[in-house]
Amino acid sequence: MAEARIIDGKTCAAGVRAEVAAQVAALGRDHGLTPGLAVVLVGEDPASAVYVRNKGRQTEAAGMNGWQHRLAADATEAEVLAKVAALNADPAVHGILVQLPLPAQVEARAVIEAIDPAKDVDGFHPINAGRLVAGGEALVPCTPRGCLILLRETLDDLAGAEAVVVGRSNIVGKPLALLLLGQNCTVTLAHSRTRDLAGVCRRADILVAAVGRAGMIRGDWIKPGAAVIDVGINRVPTESGKHRLVGDVAFDEALAVAGAITPVPGGVGPMTIACLLANTVTAACRQHGIAPPEAA
Ligand code: NDP
Repeated sequence: MAEARIIDGKTCAAGVRAEVAAQVAALGRDHGLTPGLAVVLVGEDPASAVYVRNKGRQTEAAGMNGWQHRLAADATEAEVLAKVAALNADPAVHGILVQLPLPAQVEARAVIEAIDPAKDVDGFHPINAGRLVAGGEALVPCTPRGCLILLRETLDDLAGAEAVVVGRSNIVGKPLALLLLGQNCTVTLAHSRTRDLAGVCRRADILVAAVGRAGMIRGDWIKPGAAVIDVGINRVPTESGKHRLVGDVAFDEALAVAGAITPVPGGVGPMTIACLLANTVTAACRQHGIAPPEAA
């Protein structure tokens, strides 16, 4: 059997960003509207600082307004909530993202629930989560939205496919399972208590790994020809004392069995920020009574 096709997240994300930039230009031209995204970073976590910088850079490259608000690592929950309230009230801000994780003294749930659901471009507010379940104008979490775009680029038709999502977090696994259900897949949501996980995975035409365990999904867990989406980002040490990023799927083994697979890095990762930009455009349009671009 031929080697799996590599699903190129970098190229796909560049396409999404180009579409967003064209939509932003049209909104400026036709409506005098510039979408704006505010990112709040609490503390000095180096990985978070890199993400926030990238988000700022890509927001500006798409022609949108971007603001970064930095609060000290010892900021109180009340201070973070006050910042969110100010951004909720600012009409130039259409999207608000509070970078997670937050320091221990700040409860993430309280902060997420304080964000105006119309500006919740991460899609983590219970109103948006509820709309994803029940139908309605949800803002959909960025990583699952990115996974779905990659799958729709890869497969002609998702309807009727057996989809197995391993991992049930609120930010990846659960919303992705709902999106796949929306595409008429038959969805199984697996987790740490799933019995015979290998056997469950082997049923999948679409297999998504969102666990956070390097190389956990082995080649013989994969149905020949399956589309494999690897969301995991794991840092593993190298012999030279540095580290490299690997996914949750044993990539070399999977290559020989799968029909298509996302690499790590360069698969799902680049799609996440691209979808954040797309969500910001959607949020800005809805806040101004303009029909948003068709969502993927
Ligand atoms: P969480 O830690 O919140 O959730 C992990 C999930 O994996 C849980 O549902 C857990 O099950 C399940 N799990 C843990 N161990 C096993 C096991 N042995 N067998 C089966 N299931 C298991 O992680 P996230 O969803 O936040 O992230 C998952 C991965 O995706 C991480 O590597 C993260 O870095 C990456 N990620 C990548 C993004 C990107 O942009 N590419 C964005 C977000 C995350 P249970 O619920 O039973 O505990």
